[in-house]
Amino acid sequence: NLSSRLTKVFDRLKGRGVLSEEDVGTAMREIRVALLEADVALPVVKDFVAGVREKAVGQEVVKSISPGQMVVKIVHDHLKELLGGEGDEIRLAGSPPTVMLMAGLQGSGKTTSSAKLARRLRARDRKKVLLASLDVQRPAAQHQLEVLAQQAEVASLPIVQGQQPVEITRRALDTARREGFDVLILDTAGRLSIDEALMGELVQVRDLAQPHETLLVADALTGQDAVNTARIFNERIGLTGIVLTRMDGDARGGAALSMRHVTGRPIKLVGMGEKLDALEAFHPERIASRILDMGDVVSLVEKAAETIDKDEAEKLSKKLQKGNFDLEDMRAQLQQVTKMGGMGGILGKLPGVGKIKKQIAEANIDERIIVRQCAIIDSMTRKERRNPRLIDGSRRKRIARGSGTEVQEVNRLLKQHRQMQDMMKQMKKAGGLKGLLGRGM
Ligand code: GDP
Ligand code: MG
Repeated sequence: NLSSRLTKVFDRLKGRGVLSEEDVGTAMREIRVALLEADVALPVVKDFVAGVREKAVGQEVVKSISPGQMVVKIVHDHLKELLGGEGDEIRLAGSPPTVMLMAGLQGSGKTTSSAKLARRLRARDRKKVLLASLDVQRPAAQHQLEVLAQQAEVASLPIVQGQQPVEITRRALDTARREGFDVLILDTAGRLSIDEALMGELVQVRDLAQPHETLLVADALTGQDAVNTARIFNERIGLTGIVLTRMDGDARGGAALSMRHVTGRPIKLVGMGEKLDALEAFHPERIASRILDMGDVVSLVEKAAETIDKDEAEKLSKKLQKGNFDLEDMRAQLQQVTKMGGMGGILGKLPGVGKIKKQIAEANIDERIIVRQCAIIDSMTRKERRNPRLIDGSRRKRIARGSGTEVQEVNRLLKQHRQMQDMMKQMKKAGGLKGLLGRGM
């Protein structure tokens, strides 16, 4: 994935303060490939890379993370920004009925999304919704919508055989007005690819219905075609938003960026399955992570930048390099671990550290325990902390009393310290905590 590729690119650069133009250039080649693999359309990739390049060159690398992680963060933030804000929801007209036109290619999920949206408006917003199918292409299309409307518990326009889309639209508008519907959703026919007949029909319907929302329904698996589809629909009928379907599958979501880029219109809703309740609001954060395929690395970097006390971390890593990790270091380490949401929290975000993670789980590091452990360490003398081997049976009893714990707990802590020492040796081999984080990507 992108993260590991970037780590490779930047391995040799570790320790530099500022991202140079050359570094960024190398990274951009990887990002280009990653975006293309995520199905972002080529012209969009080009613009995106140019935008990131501008932002990244000259950026200072936060001390506790690697340049690779830094670039991933910049790319991710830029991507999130381009994908648009959260909460770009469906807008309802001041005076009902709100008319919504659903458009898109055949099989993109228009009919399903129409029913999902109707259900959502009824259940969540308490709206009275009318569904109408203008699909006279496929024989069973109108019936399909009727069945889905029943499942969604909303009304559908009675089917009249032989009517053309414009006539059906006129009838739907009349019914919606006469019967006091809040929302009318017009589900249209698709084609396998864009053709003039389809567009002409849509334009006629649009002119008659004057929709408040014109939504392009598009399959998230659409690759390079997404740009053309979105551009033409937007040029011909004017979109207000996009519904991205089939995000429950393994689509990486590059189409979201492509379509947003060429239309400038927000992704308003995301289809997450075939069932009628599988419709969600759009979260740019989630799609950005999915496009870049990088798990939680971004939040890890954010957390590391916020909470690791850099000087403290460096002091510690110097000590580790010398090979001494005493109980005072353990105490400092325990405190940092608490700040970062527990050792499990840190390591859980990194792929490929399963073994160390298991050791830690066995060592039983947990926040409540950490508080008690700090108390135990506080009850030791300075000498004992620096040289745990001094701590014999009677000292253990004294420390337990002083910290309000049991001798067994003191024993456990000392054992754990030894385990941590071992672990630190492992980490040292991997180049310290910093190296571990860098490698984890
Ligand atoms: P239309 O031709 O654009 O009206 O497409 P349909 O609404 O008839 O959907 C085509 C197929 O895609 C149907 O089998 C739907 O159940 C399925 N579908 C639609 N949206 C989603 C989605 O978000 N996830 C999944 N997995 N399937 C979907
Ligand atoms: Mg349909």
